[in-house]
Amino acid sequence: EQDTRIAKISSVIRVIPDFPKPGIMFQDITTLLLDVGAFRDTIDLFVERYRGKDISVVAGVEARGFIFGPPIALAIGAKFVPMRKPNKLPGEVISEEYSLEYGTDKMEMHVGAVQAGERALIIDDLVATGGTLCAAIRLLERVGVHVVECACVIELPELKGRERLGKTPLFVLVSSS
Ligand code: AMP
Repeated sequence: EQDTRIAKISSVIRVIPDFPKPGIMFQDITTLLLDVGAFRDTIDLFVERYRGKDISVVAGVEARGFIFGPPIALAIGAKFVPMRKPNKLPGEVISEEYSLEYGTDKMEMHVGAVQAGERALIIDDLVATGGTLCAAIRLLERVGVHVVECACVIELPELKGRERLGKTPLFVLVSSS
């Protein structure tokens, strides 16, 4: 039954070649959101895994972690904390730089959104090189939060993001080559 749900989810993720630039196979989750059953199953599969695990924080990575994170947070009774692109959050922030294929980017989180000793789950739509999730892990660990796991809908295993995460476990629904 779990496999049936995952096969359906995988089938409604649209792959668009050469977006946003040549050579990238873009995994488009907007078509998953159009399928009410598949979107619900996606949330349910995460909720079934994380309910009862004493997680008090769901941290969602901008932008598509803002789609999957909040329904999971509500269902497991955790708060939702956005991890944002620079200069978007109005309050005091801490930030982490991370490297992209060309250049660097920054991720920010509000100071005071989480407390030392809390247990967090990090959510994004997809893990490629793992650089984005690593920045999110560093932000939370810097303030004394324990990252229980990172969870994504899709993994591109060839890019070895899982290895880059090191000791932090990674859970995904779909692997794409
Ligand atoms: P990375 O930091 O290399 O693991 O890249 C992950 C981030 O980039 C996620 O926030 C994804 O939404 C986005 N991303 C990277 N590659 C793709 C892809 N092929 N299709 C869709 N999104 C991608």
